[in-house]
Amino acid sequence: MTIDRRQFLAAAAASAASLAAQPGFEWGGPVLDIHLHLRPDPEMNFAHITGSGVTVAVLLTRVQDAAKAKALAEAHPGRFVWFASADVSNPANDALLSQAVRDGALGLGEIKNKVDCDGPEMKRMYALAADLNVPIQIHFGDVPQASGNAVFNGGFKRFDKMLKAFPKTKFIAHADTFWANVSADYQYDTAYPSGPIKPGGISDKWLSEYPHLWADMSANSCNNFLNRDPEFTEGFLARHQDKLIFGCDCPCADGRGGGTTNPNPRLHGNCIARETLAAARKMSQPEVFRKIRWENGAKLLGIASPTPVL
Ligand SMILES: [Zn+2]
Ligand SMILES: [Zn+2]
Repeated sequence: MTIDRRQFLAAAAASAASLAAQPGFEWGGPVLDIHLHLRPDPEMNFAHITGSGVTVAVLLTRVQDAAKAKALAEAHPGRFVWFASADVSNPANDALLSQAVRDGALGLGEIKNKVDCDGPEMKRMYALAADLNVPIQIHFGDVPQASGNAVFNGGFKRFDKMLKAFPKTKFIAHADTFWANVSADYQYDTAYPSGPIKPGGISDKWLSEYPHLWADMSANSCNNFLNRDPEFTEGFLARHQDKLIFGCDCPCADGRGGGTTNPNPRLHGNCIARETLAAARKMSQPEVFRKIRWENGAKLLGIASPTPVL
């Protein structure tokens, strides 16, 4: 079969277009962001991933907004997937979450309600996630924050009982109480403890002991952890290199820190995605950083690597 010049040029143009559509790999390869809250203006979501060098973002979407997440994923092929969330205190929402998964949601999250992490509501969610065979992403916040946050999924100290009781559930842990508890001396007195980490904390231990527990590296909470005690953190990133998944939870406008303020001086005026990717890259070997920025999350969610690969 021969190909004429017109066909050749058309094929070359199509190929160039698809390459041009690939994001630049600013971080050395593709990046999966497991924690981007769906923004009301669809293009603001796209602005954040392009500005921060993210390849694919998980849009954390309330079930009521499922159509918006789906539309965005269709408008930007290969750039967005989505998780679904709902108020877990109302069992009637379980059917909506199940429907969202049938409609393409790849996980339940972010689950953040004023309930206990081992109470009846969350037990129902852990069972539902296992039934649906999707991960559940949980905000653990035992310490009320200055911003007026209450306690969410409280009782983290007891969470190992849930890990034991729900071996088929894929748990993704997130937020301040999880990251503060990497240190064995956490006093539950502040959401963002500082200073050296005392080895042996429950979050570190449970990541080692439970194959169905992953960690979401988003937000001030993980960024704070990364910067507390770099020497300890290098070992932590290497030790849990198959369990750590990058995420941002960043509110900035453009993926470059625009339009945001942050009470943490290190993050003020900066994009959390960029700050956390830079810190993780600095504190890990290239193959570990590759797992953090892409492989672990892509494998957990079943997302194929874009070409050119890794
Ligand atoms: Zn959260
Ligand atoms: Zn940002």
